[in-house]
Amino acid sequence: MGEAIWLGILFPSRRKPFLSIFLLLYSLLLFCVHGSSSPLNDSSIPFHLYHSSDSLLREIETLVGRHPDKFHIETMRGSNRGYLAEIVVVTYNHSQRQINKPKIRILLSFGQHGRELITTEVALQLLHIFVGERSVPYLDSQSIENILDNFIIKVVPMENLNGRKLVEAGDSCDRRNGRGVDLNRNWSVDWGKKEKDYDPYEEYPGSGPFSEPEAQIMRKLAVSFNPHIWVSVHSGMEALFMPYDHKNTIPAGLAGHIMKSILENLNLRHFQRKCLVGSGGGSVGYLAHGTTTDYMYDIAKVPMAFTFEIYGDASASQKDCFRMFNPIDKTTFQTVIDKWCTAFITLFEEGIKRLGGAQLSGSDKTTYLWDHLSVVDNDSKNKVRNRDVFELAVQELRNYFRLFFLSTVLLMFMFCSRISKNKFKDMNLTLNGA
Ligand SMILES: [Zn+2]
Repeated sequence: MGEAIWLGILFPSRRKPFLSIFLLLYSLLLFCVHGSSSPLNDSSIPFHLYHSSDSLLREIETLVGRHPDKFHIETMRGSNRGYLAEIVVVTYNHSQRQINKPKIRILLSFGQHGRELITTEVALQLLHIFVGERSVPYLDSQSIENILDNFIIKVVPMENLNGRKLVEAGDSCDRRNGRGVDLNRNWSVDWGKKEKDYDPYEEYPGSGPFSEPEAQIMRKLAVSFNPHIWVSVHSGMEALFMPYDHKNTIPAGLAGHIMKSILENLNLRHFQRKCLVGSGGGSVGYLAHGTTTDYMYDIAKVPMAFTFEIYGDASASQKDCFRMFNPIDKTTFQTVIDKWCTAFITLFEEGIKRLGGAQLSGSDKTTYLWDHLSVVDNDSKNKVRNRDVFELAVQELRNYFRLFFLSTVLLMFMFCSRISKNKFKDMNLTLNGA
């Protein structure tokens, strides 16, 4: 589509001056909206350490094929105005060892930002660990299997495949999706609000909440799966975040307290308290609006919603973008993966402890803490769907209004130029007549 626009501008058709002017203005608008301040970039991907997106997804497919009793794989697709996206989702559920109680549902997403390759490597290793093909320090495979029996886990190993392809094609500093939108700003909680330090290149939130098919797919997945624990995995620093990202506070009440204590425990056990812990908005130094984790907690009512930042090199040069977000030596690469995979297993154990069932005294009934933290019944789900339909309608209206405004400006421009042309003609006639 981009090529067609430029061809239209460079070789305007005489029959369609309106179209050429429209294309020119549209391109200028796109340029203004997206900005031109792309970060410096002179680093390339060390493919001796990292998988390409194709090879990583192929390896996952093969792994799933080896364990059909534990894994299921599906590809979810979406599109918006000619832009297509697809997301691979792997479900772990040990069907042959059903335990006689409801399972805790976990949704994990990696690679929402294209340049954060290390996160997708953690996803791959974690999937290997789930089926005993890789090990975790201090835990044998039987113990891990016993822990995992309590869960259904959905893993999105690469949320932003189109953005990742751009990174692999040489734009190693790009965090956005395939058409320049930051997927972690495209959700509806406090969408579109811009801070003073807003960077239009890095943080463009899209034309409206859920304008991007990747965000639409993830929302659909979250609403249908209804997870108890959500983790969005990023890199750029070492941190264990919880809501909120759009304000400098954590959720009040029991849920906030439990989330904070889980994160502090993880920090103590695996990271020697080096990670920042707390609300994203309160700890990272800036507020972020329209983030996935805020939606998961506030709207999708996921009782435990987290954002993990698993690696960052603050000493890396601004020119070496890859290095800022990903380890480049083998030892650090493997250490980061091992450390975070182990932390995930601890998170699962904490999930059983904090969310698992407890027998009420004097009663046969087992009660589950998540029932008290989040009541996501059909009524709530319908409310979420209705709200989403409303948001989409508002977004469409906004788009039509923009188009209407642009057309009006163009028509006025054409009208004015025609009037001045006629005036000029009349003046010439008068002069010639004199
Ligand atoms: Zn990120």
